[in-house]
Amino acid sequence: MRIILIGPPGSGKGTQAKRIVDKLNIPHISSGDMLREAVSNETPLGKEVKSYMTKGALVPDNLVIKMMVERIGQPDARSGFLLDGFPRTLTQSEALDKALLTTNVRIDYVLLIKVPDEEIIERNTGRRIDLKTGQIYHLKFDPPPAEIASRVIQRDDDLEETVKYRLEKYHADTEPLIPYYEKQDLVRKVSGVGSLEEVKERLFKILVVS
Ligand code: AMP
Repeated sequence: MRIILIGPPGSGKGTQAKRIVDKLNIPHISSGDMLREAVSNETPLGKEVKSYMTKGALVPDNLVIKMMVERIGQPDARSGFLLDGFPRTLTQSEALDKALLTTNVRIDYVLLIKVPDEEIIERNTGRRIDLKTGQIYHLKFDPPPAEIASRVIQRDDDLEETVKYRLEKYHADTEPLIPYYEKQDLVRKVSGVGSLEEVKERLFKILVVS
């Protein structure tokens, strides 16, 4: 199955993506993870994109498209994949469609996780990461244990101003993808409000898995 997962930053997209790919045994292709890895490995791409990412701005389309089309072309993605964080602009969607056309495959579902803006802001700004284990906590919903509280950090792009900026970008750049994919009758919407388990159930129901 070929799936695109869309949702505002902090909608639980990454967590749900993991559950879906584990269930369907397809690769989880996250543009954000790939770009962060490029930055931390200081690759030429990483050096080029670092400043955009720190600001929470979108990386230029041509760079992301090249990276993702290459990734989708790898053997493990031949029989299916879940795209997380890509496409994020109409230009990226069109480039993806073009790339898929050359291999004669189609997207099966565009899953949209909907969460109100106020909740997105609260979720993102409270998020903390344990530098040692990579574990993600939330100051209010899932506070880190006392012994590690001193070593958790806030991701630069989780700062309040940055979150608001990313949300604006989501509304402006990514939401236009919804009518684009609605025209192809691919969009399935679920509410992202509720427990992770509840949201997972909503998504699994659409994909007809349990
Ligand atoms: P994410 O983890 O998906 O929130 O992505 C983190 C950051 O990576 C974003 O704020 C952007 O700077 C960059 N990024 C990830 N995916 C894309 C994309 N499809 N297009 C442009 N920039 C992206």
